[in-house]
Amino acid sequence: RRRREAADRAAPAVTTDGQRIEIAANANTPDQVALALDLGAEGVGLMRTEFLFLERGATPTEDEQAEIYTAMLDALGDRPLIVRALDIGGDKQVAHLDLPHEANPFLGVRGARLLLRRPELIEPQLRALYRAAKSGRKLSIMFPMITSLQEIVALRAICERIRADLDAPGVPLGIMVEVPSAAVLADVFAAHVDFFSIGTNDLTQYALAIDRQHPDLAAEADSLHPAVLRLIAATVKGAAAHGRWVGVCGGIAGDPFGACLLAGLGVDELSMTPRDVPAVKARLRSATFSDLQRLAAEALAADTADRVRALDGERR
Ligand code: PEP
Ligand code: MG
Repeated sequence: RRRREAADRAAPAVTTDGQRIEIAANANTPDQVALALDLGAEGVGLMRTEFLFLERGATPTEDEQAEIYTAMLDALGDRPLIVRALDIGGDKQVAHLDLPHEANPFLGVRGARLLLRRPELIEPQLRALYRAAKSGRKLSIMFPMITSLQEIVALRAICERIRADLDAPGVPLGIMVEVPSAAVLADVFAAHVDFFSIGTNDLTQYALAIDRQHPDLAAEADSLHPAVLRLIAATVKGAAAHGRWVGVCGGIAGDPFGACLLAGLGVDELSMTPRDVPAVKARLRSATFSDLQRLAAEALAADTADRVRALDGERR
């Protein structure tokens, strides 16, 4: 019975009519990768590199970072690793970086905006990543909090300069879609990136204007709000126009009903906390893809998040 469980966990998430959804995990250390693989993850869809800066109390050097990214790739074997460039600001404050105080940090110099202002942060990180890429394994890089095309163009230029300098192979370059402007302009951005990863935690925060940590508004900050779902649908459509793939790495990807909706909306990959992997896989395997597409269409037509959630009960 143990062996059967392990085989079940390792099997891919394929709907009863044959549609495969890639299942990845959010993991930051080789230990977390080992756990994720054991639970059936097929790769890492989000490595949050902030933790390297948060836990150490100092900025990790290029050599230290190269070692960590290589260790992550080693733990994964031939499975894919998507590393997100440093996402600092907003809820992720790093004391030793001495960033100026902001009245509205969620609307301030966050993510890509910080990276473009502080080359001493992004350049060693990209050098470390391209050094790790020389192993020839499946490494992708993505950038957080993208709101405008100029940011993509500028970040890609830095990547290309560093890649050429190190004589490293090119790697897929993607962006997080976690601000409404990126979802709305997905058809434009898709011409300039290799993939999208939707960060539904921040996308929900910015679409609904609810602080993601607000204690009184947690119930209203629902990633299944139809406005958020329509932004996700716009992202999928924009990506498809250029043949790009779309993942979701926010919390809703690890909710079995949320995962069904996202798959029905046409999302290719779901990346979640390792412990959520088995239940999501099991739920996706129990459905037909055409049912999931119908479910997604009903959710897009719903007028409130409660109505979207009610579609879950109606099906079981
Ligand atoms: C998100 O915003 O959904 C996301 C995955 O990134 P983070 O939670 O690290 O901001
Ligand atoms: Mg985010």
